[in-house]
Amino acid sequence: MIKTLRLGIMGGTFDPVHYGHLVTAEEALVQFDLDRVVFMPTGRPVRKTHRSVSSAEDRYLMTVIATASNPDFEVSRLEIDRPGDTYTVDTLRQLRDSYGPSTELFFITGADAIREILTWKGAEELAGLTTFIAATRPGYEADPLTDAMPPGVTAPRVEPMAVPALAISSSGIRARVADRRPVRYLLPEAVSAYIVKNGLYARDGDR
Ligand code: ATP
Ligand code: MG
Repeated sequence: MIKTLRLGIMGGTFDPVHYGHLVTAEEALVQFDLDRVVFMPTGRPVRKTHRSVSSAEDRYLMTVIATASNPDFEVSRLEIDRPGDTYTVDTLRQLRDSYGPSTELFFITGADAIREILTWKGAEELAGLTTFIAATRPGYEADPLTDAMPPGVTAPRVEPMAVPALAISSSGIRARVADRRPVRYLLPEAVSAYIVKNGLYARDGDR
């Protein structure tokens, strides 16, 4: 019998990637016995149009730098190389088709993002494509979500997972860089060196 491949997908804008993402992916790997975790930087995030997002290439490279030392992590260009707006359901369908039935997909996300996901284009397809791993603070009640689904639509399987380090966010890091406050210990040093070298998140006058 062929062993099923258990593949974690860590989707995100990663602008920049930080220890919250890395800890979450590592926890998912261990708690759900995944074979590996694929980081999937979004191409054109449809829900983040209120601010200018760093180039896909910068976000991809920061994610590669951050994950390089972990043999169980890899980074995919699937979304950043696909033209047009990025819809995660398209990615999951594409992965489902290319890996086939012997691979089980686990989409890793912050619990805060789950409700938003169910309003995605194509939400009715999700239940058949993936299980969601929802990162929560220890002791936080998992959201049952059934009320979030449109009538007659099956909710996808959502597995809650407690992780430490939830207070770190990319937006917090960007604000710190702009204010010249420290970001050390919030993200890998090589990623902060990349940010400085390329002038990311600096206020216009500081470049
Ligand atoms: P922003 O502050 O710009 O919204 P972010 O820190 O939330 O950025 P994203 O790239 O938007 O980072 O997040 C990618 C995924 O990682 C999302 O599913 C998000 O819920 C999850 N995530 C982000 N930060 C953490 C964290 N500290 N712990 C666990 N999950 C996180
Ligand atoms: Mg976020």
